[in-house]
Amino acid sequence: MSDYDIVIVGAGIVGSLLAAKLAPHTRLLLVDRDVAALPGSTGHAPGFVGQVNTVGALSEVARRSVKLYSSIPGGFNTVGGMEVAIAAPEPDITADIHAVDALKARAALAEAAGLPHELLSGAEARALAPTFLDERALAAVYFPSDGTANAKAIAKYGQDTAKAAGATLLDGDVSGIVKTATGYRVDSCQGSFTAAHVVVATGVWGGQLVPSLKATAVSVAHPYGYSTKRSPRPIAQPFIRWPAAHVYARDHGQRDGVGSYDHETVHYALQRVGALDSAYGDWESRIAPAFNRALGLLPPRTAATFRSYRTPSREDVHPVAAGSVPYAFNGLFTVTPDALPLSGALDVAGPTQGLWCSVGVWVTSAGGVTGVLADQILEALGKKPAGGVDAHLRKAFDPRRFDGQDERQLETAALGKYNDIYNKTEQDGSKGLNSRL
Ligand SMILES: Cc1cc2nc3c(=O)[nH]c(=O)nc-3n(C[C@H](O)[C@H](O)[C@H](O)COP(=O)(O)OP(=O)(O)OC[C@H]3O[C@@H](n4cnc5c(N)ncnc54)[C@H](O)[C@@H]3O)c2cc1C
Repeated sequence: MSDYDIVIVGAGIVGSLLAAKLAPHTRLLLVDRDVAALPGSTGHAPGFVGQVNTVGALSEVARRSVKLYSSIPGGFNTVGGMEVAIAAPEPDITADIHAVDALKARAALAEAAGLPHELLSGAEARALAPTFLDERALAAVYFPSDGTANAKAIAKYGQDTAKAAGATLLDGDVSGIVKTATGYRVDSCQGSFTAAHVVVATGVWGGQLVPSLKATAVSVAHPYGYSTKRSPRPIAQPFIRWPAAHVYARDHGQRDGVGSYDHETVHYALQRVGALDSAYGDWESRIAPAFNRALGLLPPRTAATFRSYRTPSREDVHPVAAGSVPYAFNGLFTVTPDALPLSGALDVAGPTQGLWCSVGVWVTSAGGVTGVLADQILEALGKKPAGGVDAHLRKAFDPRRFDGQDERQLETAALGKYNDIYNKTEQDGSKGLNSRL
């Protein structure tokens, strides 16, 4: 008999939530280089959860995630999300009309999905988020049921739930996954473990253990920064996005935060990521100008709270974060060729099925995506009747959907998704690549 029914490698928000769902039904090992520290992207995600998406499958799993996170103590704060159009720098009525039309299109999408939404004038938007908006705000669309997820608290909840249900949690670096006659062997610095099923949930390190993910789970750099520390506001302000500028901002309680996608995509090749023990890169010149431009969108008094921000080395981010000065860092996360997660079976379906992955999953989607995957794995273990539940989501997230396609093209498409977080390619009806959907 195998040591475990399932070994999950990676205890970020994805691996931990999956463990919570599977542990009551299986003998499970959750292994991570550092289970408690959350050294992956989960450890420093600002955690915006927006449920409106041009891709129906993403909207569906975001809604399920909000439902789950809202049931976890401290897991979700329904502060609302706001997309803001700003007036053109020089008077330009056509540009302004175009900007407001883009907001109306988002409102129509929310309407079609049955999600609450409200179109606001610039003055109404400023009243809701005075820290982040000034008279340049032309109009906004507000999604009151969106909010911010505490990714660390959710992952910790997943780990605690799994442990309480009998799972083993282990600190250990996994060096390889080997197919055996009866399942898989997981080799780690803590020894080897056999299991019928292995799930790779290793975030930006996905391609290290599963080379076939190299071209589809692609790591990129992303600048994010915090203001100086302050007292929490009585009411947290909504999460703000300036879609045309590729910038977003949020109220973190004791600090404000700003991030930007407004730069050339910076690829972190697997070799480079493999050398890192956390999902932090070093601050670099290719992302710094975008962060500085982002601060220019804030009212001057708010921008001043970020002024003279420090850019600590990777090793120093945590000590600097513990202080009160403003700072910025380079966080790494995964992009995929069609912006959808890679979550499902990696090996042949049928009796030999046993190697799975769940990578390229955002906090926004993790609750929903891990629910879909948990059901698939339980079915494979014969613990739940196969009933085609969520068939469309399983198909949409199938990690083998790009099999046989040119690797360079896949990587290029994934990198192109970095600046297209609103999936506008989908909205325009021109998908870049054929996924097997
Ligand atoms: C700056 C920043 C801003 C973001 N903003 C948002 C946002 O607003 N909304 C949103 O939805 N998402 C956001 N994201 C993305 C989000 O954080 C990630 O998609 C998500 O956290 C990924 O979770 P994960 O569990 O897949 O991976 P991770 O959290 O990276 O976990 C992977 C784990 O695997 C472990 N591991 C890797 N290799 C091995 C090995 N060989 N052996 C043992 N363990 C291993 C690692 O130690 C790590 O703990 C942001 C990310 C960053 C960096």
